[in-house]
Amino acid sequence: MKEIIEYLQSYQGRTLKLMEVCGTHTAEISRNGIPGLLSPSIQLVSGPGCPVCVTVTEYIDRLILLGKEPGNIVVTFGDMLRVPGSSQSLSEARAEGCQVRMVYSPMDMLKLAGENPEHTYIFAAVGFETTTPVYAMLLKNALAGGIKNIRLLTSLKVMPPVIDWICGEKQENSIDGFLAPGHVSVITGSRAFEGLAEKYGIPFVVAGFEGEQILAAIAALVKLRGVGKTVNMYTSAVTREGNLTAQAAVEEYFEPADAAWRGMGVIPGSGMVLRKKYEAFDAGSRELMEDREKNKGCCCAGVLTGKVRPVQCPLFGKVCTPQTPQGACMVSTEGSCFNSFNSILPE
Ligand code: SF4
Repeated sequence: MKEIIEYLQSYQGRTLKLMEVCGTHTAEISRNGIPGLLSPSIQLVSGPGCPVCVTVTEYIDRLILLGKEPGNIVVTFGDMLRVPGSSQSLSEARAEGCQVRMVYSPMDMLKLAGENPEHTYIFAAVGFETTTPVYAMLLKNALAGGIKNIRLLTSLKVMPPVIDWICGEKQENSIDGFLAPGHVSVITGSRAFEGLAEKYGIPFVVAGFEGEQILAAIAALVKLRGVGKTVNMYTSAVTREGNLTAQAAVEEYFEPADAAWRGMGVIPGSGMVLRKKYEAFDAGSRELMEDREKNKGCCCAGVLTGKVRPVQCPLFGKVCTPQTPQGACMVSTEGSCFNSFNSILPE
């Protein structure tokens, strides 16, 4: 590890911009103080890897509307509660009577729905390739148990199309390499990134989550700069083909669709929605096709695409803090603004 750190500290080539697209990597990079171990010529930027952060304002607004309808109860993970909608968050709406329940697993909803058939439970189904198989299992169990009073409001995303979008954008500073997302790669396999590496002539390195694993992956990206190759350095969990069982479960219940990303608009083929066959379980997800950022001054759009560092946002640390978040990137523990704020090293 000493040699890797020395290599990364002494790098003096052209400035490289490397992007991570996994919220857990974002958090671990910050927690391990990795930016402080790198040469100033190696810049790490966060991409759209935090599922809560990329969820559009319209989605929160729709959840609030659903939660206010008599008989409905919105069910969500805790980190969605404080994400600002266009006028309020779910947490604020709850104080005004919107019915919201927090759970730790989507499966908890089955018990709730089974015990309370007079209510309709709507799960805020947000996530990437990692989470979609869980929703597939939820539906499978609901069908097996004859539970009909559950719905999903989906905001499910897939990673390769958004990376393609970022690489294809005419950015002043284009990305020189990607830390491929570890959790997503467990499901998709490392082959999901091979086409992108070849198309853009840049390296993708699948990385684990320990500080040493991340540093080793960054060193590999630096060495491979300018080479369109995908390398899997997380072989304890990731194969080239991925988890075929999970892929088959997703294939049964979901199909690809266009999806709206916060700050990026609609990206073709970048989402998953329930198949028509299962649309009785859908709460109107296909209609959510708008990305209208309303929070004045919030730079989440730039932060999510690596164009703006959180500290460059005029609201960072002043108006916007984890206690008073103005944008989704400051809410989630996987958000880059949240992690920059809590960073152990000054940026
Ligand atoms: Fe948005 Fe706050 Fe991040 Fe600025 S610091 S981009 S306001 S979340």
